Amino acid sequence: MDFNPTGTTGSVGRLIQELSKLPSIGPKSAQRLTYYLLRAPDEHAKALAEAILSLKQQTKLCSSCFNIADSDLCPICRRDQRDQAQICVVEQPQDILALEHSGAYKGLYHVLHGAISPTEGVGSDDLKVNELIERLHNGSVAEVIIATNPTLEGEQTAMYLNRLISPLGIRVTRLAQGLPFGTELEYADDITLTRALEGRGEF
Ligand code: ZN
Repeated sequence: MDFNPTGTTGSVGRLIQELSKLPSIGPKSAQRLTYYLLRAPDEHAKALAEAILSLKQQTKLCSSCFNIADSDLCPICRRDQRDQAQICVVEQPQDILALEHSGAYKGLYHVLHGAISPTEGVGSDDLKVNELIERLHNGSVAEVIIATNPTLEGEQTAMYLNRLISPLGIRVTRLAQGLPFGTELEYADDITLTRALEGRGEF
């Protein structure tokens, strides 16, 4: 983005421009953050710069589940108490945070790093799909829980994975997703409605 609302050049303009590239930061916010940092104590700005550098230099992906890790295996894969027979498949590492926060899941994870999207040219080869199938071949996994997002891409990915994994004799399940609270039926999309219908329980 070349738009620079202040017309500033040099260091100030450069930081405004870099910050504007971040998601949900518009030129106005970028400008505000830049001038805040300009006034902030040196250590404050330095700590931020170092945190960004170390994020890219020190962070790697877990060699088993592709979660964010600071060593070969992520903390979840390192923990023996986790149920080795269950793998929950998510699109992004931050999905693990949400599921872990719920405390309801004790198995392992697998991060795809995206979802299949023909319109955006993302195919299964761009995701950690082969790596998932490889993990399933060691025979200790009894169930794969597909927790991709309830979006068109997430659904396509879930269906694709189901076709791939079911023949291996492994149970494949999908997170139950009802209508979001407060949604009016007529405004819900087809996929949500179908799922809500299929997942209906006894009253
Ligand atoms: Zn891991």
